[in-house]
Amino acid sequence: MAKTYSLPPLPYKNNALEPHISEQIMTLHHDKHHQAYVNGANAALDKLEKARAGAMQVDVRGVLRDLSFNIDGHKLHTIFWPNMAPAGKGGGKPGGRLADKMDQDFGGFDKFKAQFSDACKTVEGSGWALLLYDREIDTLVVTQIEKQNFMHLAELPILLSADEWEHAYYLQYLNDRAKYVEAWWNVVNWDDVAKRFDGARK
Ligand code: MN
Repeated sequence: MAKTYSLPPLPYKNNALEPHISEQIMTLHHDKHHQAYVNGANAALDKLEKARAGAMQVDVRGVLRDLSFNIDGHKLHTIFWPNMAPAGKGGGKPGGRLADKMDQDFGGFDKFKAQFSDACKTVEGSGWALLLYDREIDTLVVTQIEKQNFMHLAELPILLSADEWEHAYYLQYLNDRAKYVEAWWNVVNWDDVAKRFDGARK
């Protein structure tokens, strides 16, 4: 029996990010959307296994697309949840080496924040803004992805992920994504981001 993906529990209560992100959004987002990506990834792996065994004919290209969409959805959300912390514990600015690196690479936290916010607000349709660390050039990189398909296993470690799909904010902020982005900064867990940065540098 092949190994399967499973839904990790939220590292805080569903209402812990209020008032910035509502309990209703967190419950649906985690319990329904993230669970669907886990199920989708497992279903795609199962189809590929059956195809290899000759037990099923599959459209390999379509199944691989499903697999990428769902694995990447699972991985991104698995980073997204601990990237946030309950209101009062999150927000503010990073310290230590991550802060120094942001000064060096972006000219300061405020310049990073402005650029990352622009990345969040301008994702076309559904997608993500990400902060990555590229070891090759020892540089922090802000990037966007559409939907959530990398279509390859990203080599660059993700430090900070911001979900800009409508399911991440619409029930509370309607079409005002900029307002969601502004509120989201209040729950960023900089300790978690710094931990990922230290891990990526090793
Ligand atoms: Mn999402």
